[in-house]
Amino acid sequence: MTNSQPYTTTDSGNPVSSDEHSLTVGPDGPILLNDNYLIEQMAQFNRERITERQPHAKGGGAFGTFRVTGDVSAYTRAAVFQPGTETEMVARFSTVAGERGSPDTWRDPRGFALKFYTSEGNLDIVGNNTPVFFIRDPMKFQHFIRSQKRLARNNLRDADMQWDFWTLSPESAHQVTWLMGDRGIPKTWRNMNGYSSHTYSWVNASGEQFWVKYHFKTDQGIECLTQSEADQLAGEDGDAHQRDLYEAIERGDYPSWTLKVQIMPFEDAKTYRYNPFDLTKVWPHADYPLIEVGRMTLDRNVTDFHTEMEQAAFQPNNIVPGTGLSPDKMLLARGFSYADAHRARLGVNYQQIPVNRPRVPVHSYSKDGVMRVENVTDPVYAPNSTGGPAADPARAVYSNMYAVDGEMVRQAYTLRADDDDYGQPNTLINEVMDEGQRERLVHNVAGAAAGVRSDEIRERVYQYWKNIDKAIGDRIEAAIKELRGEGESVKGGGRFD
Ligand code: NDP
Repeated sequence: MTNSQPYTTTDSGNPVSSDEHSLTVGPDGPILLNDNYLIEQMAQFNRERITERQPHAKGGGAFGTFRVTGDVSAYTRAAVFQPGTETEMVARFSTVAGERGSPDTWRDPRGFALKFYTSEGNLDIVGNNTPVFFIRDPMKFQHFIRSQKRLARNNLRDADMQWDFWTLSPESAHQVTWLMGDRGIPKTWRNMNGYSSHTYSWVNASGEQFWVKYHFKTDQGIECLTQSEADQLAGEDGDAHQRDLYEAIERGDYPSWTLKVQIMPFEDAKTYRYNPFDLTKVWPHADYPLIEVGRMTLDRNVTDFHTEMEQAAFQPNNIVPGTGLSPDKMLLARGFSYADAHRARLGVNYQQIPVNRPRVPVHSYSKDGVMRVENVTDPVYAPNSTGGPAADPARAVYSNMYAVDGEMVRQAYTLRADDDDYGQPNTLINEVMDEGQRERLVHNVAGAAAGVRSDEIRERVYQYWKNIDKAIGDRIEAAIKELRGEGESVKGGGRFD
């Protein structure tokens, strides 16, 4: 051992006498129970893995800085978005359905989770690389995720249950079209956009409110993998995306994204042709153009993946003054379920873990609980007459002042003039994709659905795509039948023609 080398200790700091030999009765005798160091190593090892996330288990990320380059002070008073402000942040990217060791290149939306350590507490924007989502009511979320994961009987992923759920849930059409298109498998995490997907709200210094959607546009340019490229990479390097980000940052090639927002005046939401809070819809850019806010740059890798990434806990209800949620039902449910997932996975005091800890003083009245590491001081209740923290409404200006009224019901959103499940995916296919992209869409859907065993579900798949676009549906039906060796029946026309 050299003089500069640290000496091994137990977890309680006691020097240990050997890194190689357990304590035995003579060199050939039995191991002794008083080998405290050996027992601690074995016990600690057995407890190294914590529950993986359900979903978004496989992912990685890095630290960075968000710099405001534009001026959106007319729309929000949030300190983090004021001109010139720089804020430290952490980002995590992930796949949704795969387990912690699953390949990075499976076709799946990518999580795009951000935590900004602002001067007004943490702001988390927990989005995806897609601007929309499969469902619009949180009642269906658990069912949706189960349908994309594994069968109970054999623990296998299953095309029947994926397409069964999707085709029985027409609101999934937009997201499924997006997923089966080129962008369904990004080349790297650096080459994809991030979207809040949800509509949030902002409030400015004068108290005016706005609806907002966040778009993080990659400065590296969009690049995607074809299905066969992704399949090959899944075998060669299942961690390709994690490796790419880590190595880019190590060589000083720092990836960045430009944050742009769509702003909708508060009153527009009441009469806009789409329900602006429906998570399966975008706001067309022609109606609400992108406004530049700033740039986030990732420039620091984690040094301990477990403490800084596996224990990173993002939750969309971490909002700062000047921002707020919206009546989006999915967003409101995520506000509960994400924080609750962290309590279940990391323990009730997860916000004291350094990667999650705000960079401002915390004066909440929470106390005790498993793994609390910061001391609580009296008083432990409010109101109090002993000088404890007191709420400051002038500081806590959130944009959550929309009016709601009505009886308690279990109902879908009220439909607006242009609200249907197929219009926007049809636009994506016919006005955004070119013929090459449409051909790959057909190929990708056929590859994903040809293995569906149930005749009834396959018929529903054909109809689902014909509802989105008749021509694409016909091509998908033909392609699936060809893959299944049922080519003859195609010549006679599909059953839904
Ligand atoms: P625009 O023509 O103004 O925008 C089209 C958008 O589609 C661009 O943001 C572009 O992103 C993105 N895009 C390009 N190719 C693909 C692809 N293969 N898969 C997914 N997205 C792609 O039209 P609208 O705003 O009227 O939207 C038309 C359709 O575009 C929507 O129905 C939606 O499906 C899709 N879209 C819309 C977005 C929005 O927020 N309005 C965001 C993303 C997609 P980029 O500029 O980065 O290349």
